[in-house]
Amino acid sequence: QAELQGGDNCQFYDPRYQRLIQRRMEIEFHLRKALENNELLLQYQPEMCITDHRIVGFESLVRWNSPKLGLVSPAEFIPVAEETGLIYQLGEWVLREACRQNRKWQDAGISGLFVAVNLSSRQFYDQKLADKVGAILQETGLSPKGLELEITESMTMNRQSATPTLQTLRQLGLSVALDDFGTGYSSLAYLKELQIDKLKIDRSFVSEITKSTIDASIVNTIITLCKDLKLCVTAEGVESEEELLLLSQLGCNIAQGFLLSKPIDADQVPGFLKRFSDGSVASIS
Ligand code: C2E
Ligand code: MG
Ligand code: MG
Ligand code: MG
Repeated sequence: QAELQGGDNCQFYDPRYQRLIQRRMEIEFHLRKALENNELLLQYQPEMCITDHRIVGFESLVRWNSPKLGLVSPAEFIPVAEETGLIYQLGEWVLREACRQNRKWQDAGISGLFVAVNLSSRQFYDQKLADKVGAILQETGLSPKGLELEITESMTMNRQSATPTLQTLRQLGLSVALDDFGTGYSSLAYLKELQIDKLKIDRSFVSEITKSTIDASIVNTIITLCKDLKLCVTAEGVESEEELLLLSQLGCNIAQGFLLSKPIDADQVPGFLKRFSDGSVASIS
């Protein structure tokens, strides 16, 4: 980003940066039409309680299948949506779609599960966020217990604005999770004052726990801290049976990752749950 803003003019003419700028402009151009053209969709990734091996919820993850650009990763288009302000519309669509879907599952007898929605920073700082979330819950008929919002550490850095926002959101009756924990500027002291329900340990630590004693120790420390602070703790990016076993021994509450399932389409969820409760999902016994 610093490079794009210049300072050193030579960099501006570097063909690599020119390609980056070109790509960014293309994404912005096509993203503007993506919503109305129904090019966005949500996939859902299961989260499992480690102690009783039950699925407790699904994280919604946005996908963009552009007729012009093909599949674009959210890691690439969400930042563009943020910069351009398109995130307000996109974020509201994601919230409504996830809530609508969970209510639909509930109506079909799949109940007691939460759907997690990732918020971006501009959404989180939107003064009208709580009103919008409240209205969407009303409109879709989803109980607030069925919704979890995911925020990241960097969004909570400005305490003065984060604290009241978290308070009003949680007064609605939904839960809030701190995503990608450990990768941002975590202030441990401040965690105890932060009004959140859950912490999600970043995949980068989890992926090495069975190989790196340092990462295992970091994860252990985070889990212990969560216990003391009475926070629920989720491990992201669990890919192997060994990782799940170790996390279970460390007292982690929830697991999410390719071991259980990759993100799937909404219509695959009932079948997944069925296979899962039959015990026929790969290597989870
Ligand atoms: P995230 O919220 O941390 O989501 C988890 C990411 O890790 C997802 O990538 C998921 O597919 C991936 N993942 C899950 N389990 C595993 C695993 O076992 N191994 C590996 N290698 N990866 C795993 P995805 O879907 O590409 O999303 C990337 C990021 O984009 C998300 O990270 C989130 O920050 C953002 N994002 C996705 N959907 C939304 C959305 O609706 N709104 C906003 N604001 N951001 C979103
Ligand atoms: Mg997330
Ligand atoms: Mg994450
Ligand atoms: Mg691994």
